[in-house]
Amino acid sequence: MGYDAYAVTIFGVKSDINDFEVTEKKRGCEHKIDKDAKFCSQCGKPAYITDTFIPDELYQEKYKGVDIIRPNSDSNEIYLGVLIGRTDYNKKSVCYSKGNITQLIDKTIERLSKIEEIAIFDVAFWTVLEESY
Ligand SMILES: [Zn+2]
Repeated sequence: MGYDAYAVTIFGVKSDINDFEVTEKKRGCEHKIDKDAKFCSQCGKPAYITDTFIPDELYQEKYKGVDIIRPNSDSNEIYLGVLIGRTDYNKKSVCYSKGNITQLIDKTIERLSKIEEIAIFDVAFWTVLEESY
């Protein structure tokens, strides 16, 4: 593995992963507890924990046909749209978008407009540094 860096160009919107995160309160263990208990009397774990996660749907049906780029997992920044191209520091550039760019843009805007969490008026071309460790 090691460190990899890519320059990525995407047509779409910039967003914040927190806009998609779901917070859920759930039981801290499997044991039966009293209604008002703060901790489990059997294992000592908190009675309830708050779990924050990115719903699987973000990568499934609702976003089908939408590329989701999170350039750096330490950052909350994500981009939704269509991946235009990617290049790293020692290989050739790769173009992901083939065909009519106007149709591609129209199709991307149409797809993005169906996603309520994003502001469609912020659609633009973005070139960002994507890092993986
Ligand atoms: Zn327990």
